[in-house]
Amino acid sequence: MKRSERVAVIGVGILGASVGWNLSRHGAQVVFIDAGQPGEGVTNWSFSWVNASNKTARRSYFDLNVAGMAAHRELARTIGPDSWWYPSGHLRWTDDPAAQAKLLETAGLLAGWDYRVEVYTGAEVRRRLEPALTVPGEVPVVFYPDEAWVHGRHLVGRLVGQAVASGAELRSATAVRDIGTGADGSIRTLALSDGSRLDVDIVVNAAGSSASHVAGLIARHLPMRREPGLVTRIGCAQVPVHRAMHAPHIEIRPDGDASVVLHSREIDALIDTGEEPAQLARLLHESAQHVVPELGGSRIAQTRVADRPIPADGFPSVGAVPSVPGYYEAVSHSGITLGPVIGRLLASEILSGKRDEMLADFRPERFLP
Ligand SMILES: Cc1cc2nc3c(=O)[nH]c(=O)nc-3n(C[C@H](O)[C@H](O)[C@H](O)COP(=O)(O)OP(=O)(O)OC[C@H]3O[C@@H](n4cnc5c(N)ncnc54)[C@H](O)[C@@H]3O)c2cc1C
Repeated sequence: MKRSERVAVIGVGILGASVGWNLSRHGAQVVFIDAGQPGEGVTNWSFSWVNASNKTARRSYFDLNVAGMAAHRELARTIGPDSWWYPSGHLRWTDDPAAQAKLLETAGLLAGWDYRVEVYTGAEVRRRLEPALTVPGEVPVVFYPDEAWVHGRHLVGRLVGQAVASGAELRSATAVRDIGTGADGSIRTLALSDGSRLDVDIVVNAAGSSASHVAGLIARHLPMRREPGLVTRIGCAQVPVHRAMHAPHIEIRPDGDASVVLHSREIDALIDTGEEPAQLARLLHESAQHVVPELGGSRIAQTRVADRPIPADGFPSVGAVPSVPGYYEAVSHSGITLGPVIGRLLASEILSGKRDEMLADFRPERFLP
């Protein structure tokens, strides 16, 4: 891209913030646009576990997630860990014998891929890592020491704040309603819901679960799956766990000094059955108390159902769409893990025009008719 060109980042969750921050620090003119407030979309309603251990289905996807973990560590060195980066590892165990065999098999596969894995007994975990858990003494517990959790909203705030301090513009509470193109099909203007128009040369579609709608504004078909998830924040006087974990039937992580986040794929499966979110939150809270009895004294503070931003085949859609010069996509599930690496790779592609091999399997062109 040329220095005089202006980039609009549509959507300011972890993906848009990461792309825009990387562009801005390399001198690009960036305008962030969000229909709501930065970081308050799915990024604020995520289990927010930074990992590659759950991404073994395809080697290139695993490698991208490992690069995502490294990009977080690098980002924490560059901007400081502040109140967003919690590299405390991840614990996983199960009460089902078949799932336990699978968990240990996956741990073996990951160790073979040079991913750090440690296996403890429940008793060792209680003694060394998490005294508040009820995990049975003999149960094998897999510990991934290089994994982490992230406070997504705080990270977005840091990235956007730094970009704005170095000249980027932020337009919040206004949605992109239309994208105008020139006679050659290239990006020219944006129409916003506050009635204003912006002249831009490049747009990055980072609109999360609304990315398909934004792609439609340039007549592009970006097929996405609907996969809602329910997250509950529990307020507690003292946070009884020190790291993110997958326990039987429940995922638990700290969320700062006075809050814990709960999630479960089993509960997500009930979202479309007509059950009230408040009732599903109570089920999460009950499951969590079986694992951490101290959570009995806590209260449900907030619950939200959010749609995961997932392209139809389950993999990220990142990069240019060559038929629309100036249009780029940054759309992904596992966006908490992948935000910093996608931000770095996509910004570099926009600035230099060079495509990185690491994104070869995740190109938007795979969805062209
Ligand atoms: C229950 C659940 C658990 C998850 N757990 C994990 C996990 O453990 N680890 C992990 O890595 N990932 C996880 N994810 C996925 C991860 O949270 C998302 O991939 C990530 O937050 C997506 O970030 P984003 O920036 O794309 O989207 P968002 O944070 O939703 O940001 C998109 C922004 O676009 C804005 N927008 C939309 N339309 C427009 C428009 N027309 N104009 C302007 N702005 C617009 C919205 O207001 C929003 O702020 C989970 C997701 C869910 C739902």
